[in-house]
Parts: sequence; structure tokens; C-alpha cells
Amino acid sequence: MTLFADAPRPASRPTPILAVEAVTKRFGGHAAVDQLSLSVPPGLIAGLIGPNGAGKSTLFDLLAGRQSPTQGRILYEGQSIERRPAHRRAALGIGRTFQIPRPFGALSVRDNVMLGRQHHPGERLLPNFLQPARVVEAERAARRDADELLAFVSLGHLAGSPARVLSGGQRKLLELARVMMGQPRLLLLDEPAAGVNPSLLETIMEKVAAIAARGVTVFLIEHNMDLVSRLCGHVFVMAEGRLLCEGAPAVVVRDPRVIEAYLGTGAA
Ligand code: ADP
Ligand code: MG
Repeated sequence: MTLFADAPRPASRPTPILAVEAVTKRFGGHAAVDQLSLSVPPGLIAGLIGPNGAGKSTLFDLLAGRQSPTQGRILYEGQSIERRPAHRRAALGIGRTFQIPRPFGALSVRDNVMLGRQHHPGERLLPNFLQPARVVEAERAARRDADELLAFVSLGHLAGSPARVLSGGQRKLLELARVMMGQPRLLLLDEPAAGVNPSLLETIMEKVAAIAARGVTVFLIEHNMDLVSRLCGHVFVMAEGRLLCEGAPAVVVRDPRVIEAYLGTGAA
């Protein structure tokens, strides 16, 4: 299997893989995301930081299609996607993990990974029904892919165990394998290291770096600044729904506006 989808060729001035244009999301009168614009070039590991309640997870919901923006446009590989349903965006190559993974505890670790498969628009029930042998072969291939991904995230030995036995950190790794099963080109990771013990933290960082090294663009929300500094080439800072600043991690953390935003919430 190709674990990773082909990356777009780097050009001198690449089209951003993701462009957010003046996006607002209101919940009642409150703008969780407020006139936000940013763009992520392909091939990068980009970080998104900001105090709690800044609108980071809401932005990911808007990117992945779990929510629709009140206003603004979202371009993925140059095409407008803000009105497309989540499953269509997933089929286009946008993968997303959740801050709190909720695997199906009674299903095996492997079956949870297999749930990450993307069903492409051409797939139909009737042809499957008429060609059962092809379905069996597809299942076998998916199972091989799932096992390969589980080995990649160091969970191969647990493939047959029910997912409920996994620790919090192992669930984060399972979440990574599940989302990679869909062969994303843009991977949105919501706090991949939150609540993870230090040894698994290193594993998670290594795996994210390895995924990016194969050409997948990674956009990650994270509070662990050590992780952000080591992994991310570029960081966006959000506060109160807006983009406060962006730049190299070392520069951003010293920006007085950023320090003030964190101090303002008591979460420095
Ligand atoms: P972050 O991930 O940066 O901590 P969130 O995106 O989760 O922030 O939340 C941003 C703001 O939007 C918060 O004030 C939160 O209460 C609000 N919010 C998020 N989702 C909803 C929702 N579904 N309905 C109402 N308010 C929401
Ligand atoms: Mg969040």
C-alpha cells in the first residue's frame, strides 16, 4: 500500500493547500471565529496556538465541515469547499482528528482504524452486491493497510484487542492511524499531545514528523510549546476569534501581543 497519498509538486510559488478568507462563525451573537484569514502552503507543519476559547477547534470544525461558516470562504487546493459536507471534504483529502478521541471501545483496534477508510463517490451498493469477490478482496486490502498503519504508530501488537484497553496516549496514536487510513493530503490535528505521557509524546511527535516528511501538510492545534517549536515551521496565533499574529515559533512566543493574550486569560 502507499501509506501516504502523493504530495503536490512543490512549485516556486505554490498554491496554498488551504486558504481561509475572512471567515466568521457566529453562535448566537458571539463570533467564535471573527473575520479570520490565513493560508497554509503545501508541505508545511503549521501550528495553531491561542488561549482556551480562542476559536481554534471551531476553526477546525469549519475546515473539516462539521460546521458551516456564517461568512467567508475556505479554499482547499484552490477550490471553494465551505458549503461541502464533511464526508465530501474527507474524500477530497482533508483528514481531521479530535481533541478527545472516542474510539468504539468494543470494536478491535484494527476495526477502529478501518473505519477511517474513505468511501469515494464512485462506490455504489449495487456493483458491490453484484461482485462479492471484489468486496472480499477490498476488505482484505483494507485490513492489510490498517495493520501497516498500526505498526507505523507502534500499536501493531494491539490490533486484535478491543479499543477500550488503550490508554489516553494510545488512543491519540489510534486516532492518527484512523485518520491516515483516509490518505489525507491535509491533516488537521486537534491537540495531538494533550494528556499524553512524556514517552508517548516523543512517539507522537516522531509519527507526525514522519507523516509530514512523506508530503502530507499538517496543521495542528497544540498547547505544548516544546512540541510546537520542534515540529512547526510556522505558527498562527488566535485570540478571541481573530488572528493575532503569525510567524516562526521562536518569534511568535516572544511577541508581546501573544504574551498579553495568554496572560489575559490566566493561562500563561
Ligand atoms: P478553542 O478550541 O480555541 O479553545 P473553541 O473553538 O472550542 O475554542 O471555542 C471558541 C468559542 O466558541 C468559545 O467561546 C466557545 O464557548 C464557543 N463555541 C464553540 N462551539 C460552540 C457551539 N457549538 N455553540 C456555541 N458556542 C460554541
Ligand atoms: Mg479546542
